[in-house]
Amino acid sequence: MVLKSLKYFFVGLMIFTFFSCSQEEEGILVNDLREFKIAVKSATPGTVITMANGVWENVELRLKGIGEEGNPIKLQAETPGKVIISGQSNLAFSGEYIEISGLVFKNGYTPTSEVISFKTSKEELANNSRVTNCVIDNFTNPERFDGDTWIALYGKNNRFDHNTMIGKGNRGVTLAVKMQTEESRENNHVIEFNYFGPRQILGSNGGETLRVGTSHYSRMYSNTIIRSNYFDRVNGEHEIISNKACGNEFRDNVFFECQGTLTMRHGHHTLVENNYFLGNRKPNTGGIRIINENQTVKKNYLFGLTGHRFRGALVIMNGVPNSPINRYNQVVDSHMDNNMVINSDYIQLCAGSDEERSAVPVGSTFKNNLILGNTNLEPFTIYDDVSGIEFSGNVMNSDAKLPFQQGFEQVSLDLTKNANSLLVPSQELIDKIEFGEVNLPISKADVGADYYAKDGTERTFNTGTTIPVLPGEDTILEAITNSSSGDILELENGGEYLMTKYAFVNHPISIVVPAGEKAKLLSEKQSFFKIENGGALHFKNVLFDGAESPDQAGNNVISTSKYSMNQNYSLIIEGCEVKDLDKNHSFDFLKSYKHTFADSINIINTTMTNVTGAVMTLDMEVEDLGIYNVENVKIVGSTFNGVLGAIANVYRGGTDESTFGPIMTVSDVEINNSGKGKRNKVGAVLRFHGVQKLKVDNVRVRDSKGIDLFLTNGEPITKISNITFINSTGLTTNDEPYEAVNIVSNLK
Ligand code: CA
Repeated sequence: MVLKSLKYFFVGLMIFTFFSCSQEEEGILVNDLREFKIAVKSATPGTVITMANGVWENVELRLKGIGEEGNPIKLQAETPGKVIISGQSNLAFSGEYIEISGLVFKNGYTPTSEVISFKTSKEELANNSRVTNCVIDNFTNPERFDGDTWIALYGKNNRFDHNTMIGKGNRGVTLAVKMQTEESRENNHVIEFNYFGPRQILGSNGGETLRVGTSHYSRMYSNTIIRSNYFDRVNGEHEIISNKACGNEFRDNVFFECQGTLTMRHGHHTLVENNYFLGNRKPNTGGIRIINENQTVKKNYLFGLTGHRFRGALVIMNGVPNSPINRYNQVVDSHMDNNMVINSDYIQLCAGSDEERSAVPVGSTFKNNLILGNTNLEPFTIYDDVSGIEFSGNVMNSDAKLPFQQGFEQVSLDLTKNANSLLVPSQELIDKIEFGEVNLPISKADVGADYYAKDGTERTFNTGTTIPVLPGEDTILEAITNSSSGDILELENGGEYLMTKYAFVNHPISIVVPAGEKAKLLSEKQSFFKIENGGALHFKNVLFDGAESPDQAGNNVISTSKYSMNQNYSLIIEGCEVKDLDKNHSFDFLKSYKHTFADSINIINTTMTNVTGAVMTLDMEVEDLGIYNVENVKIVGSTFNGVLGAIANVYRGGTDESTFGPIMTVSDVEINNSGKGKRNKVGAVLRFHGVQKLKVDNVRVRDSKGIDLFLTNGEPITKISNITFINSTGLTTNDEPYEAVNIVSNLK
């Protein structure tokens, strides 16, 4: 441990010294794009171009040059971290031996499809070049589904190291290794010591953090090494890493609370070794998934992973016989050995087995794995014939259920934290599987740009100050204007608050009455609150009353921005009352717009009465592309009376399998006299279309429309129990299987 720390110290010292040296090379100081272009034109081996500190706005930097080994052309910041590239900007370079360092991209986005590109045209690629100590922070297109790639590697022998990437909010891979032409294959790139910081849930395919290759070139070799990177809460979609080429190595990386997996989607001969997946029991955290041939997954440590289906801790897929290049190659001669799986819930073999994916794994092994824990005592799911996988030397705890006897032994469960704070079994067992030292190969401090904070952008409620707000006209608006992220606006017990203007919400705000009688909120505008990009709302113990709303169709209490939002929002309604949203027709509680996305919407212990619209409409993505509007919905302990539209209308169309959500819980809910408005096109009080995980329990529906369930792709988990329909439509479903108990219908 001490030795290891010393080692890091010296590595740190070397990095420090390196940058200290580069500082001393003043080079040609350029102050604007014109001077930059002149300097680039005459660059020869050894030329150092230094960008002056300050904000460089709307600059597309193009650097073509030929440096030499040991004598590169350098582009650097006058002071690392003090050159801010903003607005409509990007950087592209090509040639030989080019080294770029110290630049920060923020407050803008690229007008092209790449922010940092290792090419200046289709034919002009960068080789033997390096990008280091740079930052891309929230450099995100405001159009959520206008896709781009932050870093695109082309050419050969390039190194991308010690960079920080945080907060990509729009569609597109954070870092991609491209292989379109011969000149970019067998590239030997090295991607190391980078910090991949928090990335929000995209709510669609296309949110991968790292991709190597594409299906089209996936049977060619990339030979890229991805090592010693720290992936911190990258949650874009279910593939954190999508490997789609041959000959790549993933070693010594840490995946901290990431929702998703390292997926060997295409390509053969991949090595996945000594990676640490720390799920810490967070939802949807996954591990490693094998597809294709000659894959090796060994000595990985997987802790606290809760992901199921394709997102399990360890997954081996079934393939498609003679698979087309973009489907699923059969698993052949692949090895999943010597891994340590602790307190993780799912291991799936022959996953995805169906009529199309009928080719079972062959010539493969599952050996010497430790699978220990008490979070799920039956972690294995075996979907098909596993006779093509050899099992031996695996260990499970004695109270766990073995998938079969052959190749497994059982021990008593005894886990303790080791000196490195990781939960481990006895040394004897660790030695038995030849795992070696159990320790994180890198820490957060070892990675990323050395001058930039790695705290990400977690936006949460109740982290700011409490601001008392007096009853009256527009006092809430004033308080919101003067508030900061996480502040709590404390309303007066029983007070009345009227708003004559829209309340625009740009950061998380709580509006609460701590105890006693609810405060009453009214608005003279079409919406009470508009959640703009970056906004989030939490209400507690307030009464929303539609009495002062304008006499026009289509009012609402809360709406999202009308425009695309590249930051997810969330909404909590807790212990509230909603009444008389009945000025004209179609008065909704929550109105969402296209290309907006909620991480969570919770309605808890709330009563809503007399509403001419819907409680929540989350069905704006109608193109069936697997895009949707909300990840988690909870409606708990609440009562709805006389809602003409739907209580919840959630729609996720398409057959794409790349997302976890939508995830919904409806429990302890009463619905009376609802859903029967002539404008309720969905014809149900609860409509779940394409919901991936659904739990409906203890719901009483009286004199109302029913529940409409439409199960789509994947293996949605659907549990419906204790539902009573009284004089109501009942439960209608398409004919996919689901789990239902105690549904009582047709009561009068
Ligand atoms: Ca994907």
